[in-house]
Amino acid sequence: MPCRKIRPAAHTDCREMRGGQFYKNAEIIEKEAVDLVDEEKISRLVRQTLAGMDLSNLPKPRHQLGVFDTMEEALAACNKAYTVFRHYNKEQRENIISEIRRLTHEEAEIMAKLAVEDTGMGNVYHKTLKHHLVADKTLGTSDLETRALAGDGGLTLIEMAPFGIIGAITPSTNPSCTILCNSICMLAGGNGVIFNPHPHAKRISAYAVDLVNRAILAAGGPENIVCTVKNPTMETSNKMVNDPSVRMLVATGGPGVVKMLLSSGKKAIGAGAGNPPVVVDDTADIPKAAKDIIDGCTFDNNLPCIAEKECFVLRSVADELIHHMLKNGAYMLNDAQIKQLEDVVLVWSKPKKPGDKPKRVINKDWVGKDAKLILEQIGVKAKDDVRCIICETEFSQAFVQTELMMPILPIVRVDTFDEAVEMAVKAEHGNRHSAHLHSKNVDHMTQYAKAICTTIFVKNAPSYAGIGFNSEGWTTFTIAGPTGEGITSPRSFTRIRRCVLSDALNII
Ligand code: NAD
Repeated sequence: MPCRKIRPAAHTDCREMRGGQFYKNAEIIEKEAVDLVDEEKISRLVRQTLAGMDLSNLPKPRHQLGVFDTMEEALAACNKAYTVFRHYNKEQRENIISEIRRLTHEEAEIMAKLAVEDTGMGNVYHKTLKHHLVADKTLGTSDLETRALAGDGGLTLIEMAPFGIIGAITPSTNPSCTILCNSICMLAGGNGVIFNPHPHAKRISAYAVDLVNRAILAAGGPENIVCTVKNPTMETSNKMVNDPSVRMLVATGGPGVVKMLLSSGKKAIGAGAGNPPVVVDDTADIPKAAKDIIDGCTFDNNLPCIAEKECFVLRSVADELIHHMLKNGAYMLNDAQIKQLEDVVLVWSKPKKPGDKPKRVINKDWVGKDAKLILEQIGVKAKDDVRCIICETEFSQAFVQTELMMPILPIVRVDTFDEAVEMAVKAEHGNRHSAHLHSKNVDHMTQYAKAICTTIFVKNAPSYAGIGFNSEGWTTFTIAGPTGEGITSPRSFTRIRRCVLSDALNII
């Protein structure tokens, strides 16, 4: 008889929340379960119990708002809602956004727990903070600007107008944060939105879409102006991309999805992959640099695309930097352990066409996992407070060259700042995404920023300062490097229209 290991209930609160009805039976079983259980026996017990119960009075699971069985239904519902929403003024849109902010604060922890449970990635506490950040620092309608040009010829107005319906693809790494942040920005711009979320994050994504619709209804707005599908696939994605009512496309994800949307023939915004290097020179406050780098690199287990992925440090301060990293929860691998870990977190890709050489790519099973769990795979029993795996490597080593999205930080010693910049630029692979520096030398800051050309460049702080976390500036979870919108905000999702009145209303 095959036996199944049942995982202990990790987040009991989450099961009692909205959208968590599907956990109820599992919870009863888990309470009774010891470590290993007989599946057939359990299903017989469940059948017997259900047969003896009057189920007619049980509350029905609540239908999630804006979540449809098919993409056709989602598109039809969004188009219908848009006929109402397109007449909403900025005040009405802002009322909806205030409600989204309120509910996002209120349900931040629920969403953080559900996201970790749904995707098996990340850290609940950090994800909770990310949701609060979205609620507090995503820009609303104040970002929209009207220009007026008055002169001898009359008055010309330049306005930021809605695109219409936007089709958005969202990642597994920040699923609900991206949906909430995109929704606020796109609704502020007066648009409707269809989301095709990552299939591995479909439950938390549906939860976020439902939350947005609850907020819209509470503010008196039309249901379904933000929609999604229960089971997103490549097929639903293609339907969304090719539907004529979808006027703009937004991709937040890896290179495949960005390339696909940019070849669609429609206006598209691409927020793609990164591999952010951090450089440390000999003028930096080394204890602070070490703490900042570990804090940034381990935030949500390195899932954010902006997080430090490899470190280049001047030889003269390398030992001190590593010493302070170890004091801040890092574990240093030796050479043999590096080799062992390569075999765990990397796999060989299949060549796409004859003649292609196999490449080492990430093993997705380990993306966003805790450092302690990753270390266990190579036989290391680390202390509970370990949060980052560090190692000294050559520039060509796979951990330096690959966007791992795991709390693993390779460190490369360099002789000069010029060498550090040269390596950082190469390791960033031309993504023009994010780069970080710890230095007090203004010339170094300027030299590195000019050479690397990234959308985000953080100096003397953890990488998350780049999205407004404990720093100045608004936040986004869609950083559009390839198409140049940068740190997206409501204006990124608008089209510029001009309204000309000839020979009048020029009142001077
Ligand atoms: P992913 O690329 O695997 O998936 C993103 C979404 O695209 C999913 O919904 C997926 O199903 C879909 N998809 C993938 N290829 C597709 C194709 N050819 N056609 C249609 N749909 C396709 O991304 P992920 O693993 O969830 O996220 C991690 C990646 O996203 C990393 O590379 C990270 O750097 C990047 N990312 C970038 C930003 C940013 O703002 N620039 C933000 C978050 C994540």
